[in-house]
Amino acid sequence: MSSATKYIEELIESLTQFPGVGRKGAERIAYFIIRSNSSIGKNLITALGNVSEMLENCNNCGMVYLKKNECTCSEERNTEMLCIVENIEDAVKIENTNSFDGHYHVLGGAISPLDGIGPSDLSFDKLLKRINSDVKEVIIATNPSTAGNATALYIEKFLKDEKVKISRLAVGLPVGSNLEYIDDKTISTAISGRVKIN
Ligand SMILES: [Zn+2]
Repeated sequence: MSSATKYIEELIESLTQFPGVGRKGAERIAYFIIRSNSSIGKNLITALGNVSEMLENCNNCGMVYLKKNECTCSEERNTEMLCIVENIEDAVKIENTNSFDGHYHVLGGAISPLDGIGPSDLSFDKLLKRINSDVKEVIIATNPSTAGNATALYIEKFLKDEKVKISRLAVGLPVGSNLEYIDDKTISTAISGRVKIN
């Protein structure tokens, strides 16, 4: 193997570590970067450097934060509400809506026996430590998927002895949608999760 081939192979190998990227996809990305010569590769190096140097994963809540600032779990926010999400990106999505001012707890995934992920693989021990007398409501914001639903059920049982109100994000029709184009499952979920308006 020539040295050039060795370095290309190393890049391909690294890319296959990313979720959803197989060998073929990794090869395509690697050769695209190599062919593009300068800008794309350099921008990627800068972005990767920034992420590893400037961001930190929080040991307490599982969120990511700027090293020079404090994590949201140390900020003065509404301490009565704790929102449980599967992954960091879910918390960021909710945060960007500016509709929630409480704290977050990132589980690090969802319970999925088929993928070999059980409760002990997620941060339930840390979750328990965060349920203190200040917390009045826990909002389960796991995805409305099989794994997300299983995780929500587990959280409900896990916290049944705690003196907190437990709620879950509403599931139903997307804003701005049209009933005609919505799938049956979503409509039936929206019917069972209907809300009283008077
Ligand atoms: Zn934190």
